[in-house]
Amino acid sequence: MDDLTQLPGVGPSTAEKLKEAGYTDFMKIATATIGELTDIEGISEKAAAKIIEAARELCNLGFKSGSEVLSQRKNIWKLSTGSKNLDEILGGGLESQSVTEFAGMFGSGKTQIAHQACVNLQCPERIIADDAIKEEILNEPKAVYIDTEGTFRPERIVQMAEALGLDGQEVLNNIFVARAYNSDMQMLYAENVENLIREGHNIKLVIVDSLTSTFRTEYVGRGKLAERQQKLGRHMATLNKLADLYNCVVIVTNQVAARPDAIFGASEQAIGGHIVGHAATFRIFLRKAKGDKRVAKLYDSPHLPDAEAMFRITEKGIHD
Ligand code: ADP
Ligand code: MG
Repeated sequence: MDDLTQLPGVGPSTAEKLKEAGYTDFMKIATATIGELTDIEGISEKAAAKIIEAARELCNLGFKSGSEVLSQRKNIWKLSTGSKNLDEILGGGLESQSVTEFAGMFGSGKTQIAHQACVNLQCPERIIADDAIKEEILNEPKAVYIDTEGTFRPERIVQMAEALGLDGQEVLNNIFVARAYNSDMQMLYAENVENLIREGHNIKLVIVDSLTSTFRTEYVGRGKLAERQQKLGRHMATLNKLADLYNCVVIVTNQVAARPDAIFGASEQAIGGHIVGHAATFRIFLRKAKGDKRVAKLYDSPHLPDAEAMFRITEKGIHD
């Protein structure tokens, strides 16, 4: 919990009110809107604007110099998906300091990819990094799996681990699994990842499977859309911050909705609209092909061309 009295015009009593309203740290305030803060008694519009601005500065949501960005990017490492084809269209693998979104219909392989990533994190050959960084990553790396659909299967982790010659039990010991039954729990778990890191756990992979299902069932109808997008935006900000500050790989999965009105090809659309689109650096659309084959399509990446890759899901896991 941050000391909110560091914010301009926030004394102990306002800090208390902010906390009561759920604004327990700078990041939550930095990603709040003026309208949300003025709902709290005693905070004027002017004061809210100042508080938000100060919180943004404290969270480093401001500008960085190009050379700062470059030096941070030097620490980027990659985690293999298990499929060389899929790694290739991602520019080498799942990239740290970014959020990667896997979208697709039921059974397209989103959860399987998430499981495989947890296993691959324990497999040094599947971590692509410079020597100096690799040492840090390989120092008992741990994954966090926020499961909103109840589809995490330890048995499947063991099966994938054994296919790689790893001890299944050991891989399981390095995954923190949290079952989220609603969007508030989901957001709280994501925020609590930082506590695990402060306790000394070397969290290098964070998964939210799925990102949108709780939001979709809780915020139904047009009238709820703005609120849903607002919360989803805040959740994505938490995930991006984890990725950036702790050099983690972050994976989110996203259900797709059928769009009968689609004009060309895209008969489905990822949920979450622009909020998710702008907050995820890599977006991959998965679809079923013949048998155990799946097609992954990378789109809208800032520095990679749109591309497709074929991979398979078998007993062994994800591979070409
Ligand atoms: P979703 O995109 O809905 O999360 P999943 O990742 O759960 O989809 O993919 C489910 C599919 O993965 C199944 O339909 C099956 O084809 C495949 N699969 C899951 N477990 C196994 C397994 N143990 N062996 C082979 N294939 C599996
Ligand atoms: Mg799934």
